[in-house]
Amino acid sequence: ISTVYQPDGHQLGMAAEIRKHVSIPIISQGKLDNPVVAEQALLDGKTDFIALGHQSIADPHWPNKVKAGKIREIRPCVGCNECLLYLFTGKHITCAVNPQSFHEDEYQLIPTQEPKNILVIGAGPGGISAALTASERGHKVTLWEKSDQLGGLLNAAGGPAFKKQVKNYLEYASRMLDRSVVDVRMLKEADAEEILDNKFDLVIWAAGAKPLAPPIQGIDLEKVYDSSDVLTAKVTIDCNEVAVIGGGLAGCETAVYLAQEGKNVTIIEMLDDILVTANHCLNNDQALRALVAENNIKIMTKTEVLEINDKGIKTSSGNDVLEIPCGGVVLACGYKADDEGIIEQIEDKVEVRVIGDSAAPRKIIDAVHEGFHVARVI
Ligand code: SF4
Repeated sequence: ISTVYQPDGHQLGMAAEIRKHVSIPIISQGKLDNPVVAEQALLDGKTDFIALGHQSIADPHWPNKVKAGKIREIRPCVGCNECLLYLFTGKHITCAVNPQSFHEDEYQLIPTQEPKNILVIGAGPGGISAALTASERGHKVTLWEKSDQLGGLLNAAGGPAFKKQVKNYLEYASRMLDRSVVDVRMLKEADAEEILDNKFDLVIWAAGAKPLAPPIQGIDLEKVYDSSDVLTAKVTIDCNEVAVIGGGLAGCETAVYLAQEGKNVTIIEMLDDILVTANHCLNNDQALRALVAENNIKIMTKTEVLEINDKGIKTSSGNDVLEIPCGGVVLACGYKADDEGIIEQIEDKVEVRVIGDSAAPRKIIDAVHEGFHVARVI
């Protein structure tokens, strides 16, 4: 089963080979959600038909949109396999980017009879989802984003070339926002006084979370970077030897990203294994572990970082203390919500709903769904 980590049309080679040896038409699948790739596969004679699995869940209108030439309106699957994870863990199947999937009747968007003046703070996946949903229902929506980029942490999650699907989704969401009547204000910091002065009926707080920096000696050295800054190319690491502290999802993806840039990368993880905290589907786990292995990334588990210094980092594992030489250190130690005390200043005077990573740092599915549902029932 495909994941975000495979390239487009990754099973077409197999399909083409099988087609040479059989006399019946064949159907091929495997990341053919890009209509250009799908059509080319047919034109090249690699397959007789294409089949879409995940993409049909993310956007069941794919065939009609392709037929109408509206391919920029297709909501792309992000390859997260939350659909499968939900299924395998006994939950009702759904889709990270399409909260209405498998709930088409019960989660219909009903036009509001009482339009509200709504402020959404933060244009990450949750904020965009809330803003678009509220606007579609007829509310007046203003969206404040403190940076100059839409997408929040989707920019980091979709930064590596091997996670192009996430970037595709961010571009789709940005296009939908562009086409909407949501009043988007970029480079707009949240300010308690200004929020209250504007007399909004409701504030949806979706400002996201900030990277955690563990209390390690040397954490403030110039050679220490945050993984999201690396993945968004805000910073470049000039040295060859890099240590990534944290072997969760962000740590492993950052390690692969850096290794593909030619670095020698070591992941340092306190737990017994990498990806213990990832909480993702088994096939995504296997695909990411394969990328880590293929890119010759060294893994040190059950290892604690004691100190970061000019030469590298000092670690301990059991009774062993080890110095690891490295010119760059990347932190991938998780995130924490931080509203800088603004919610406390406003919540007595205006209704506030907190969603996504601002409530608790989690996954794309949580942000998109919480944004959708908070706006669906206003
Ligand atoms: S849950 Fe993820 S993998 Fe499954 S269809 Fe939706 S976006 Fe695609």
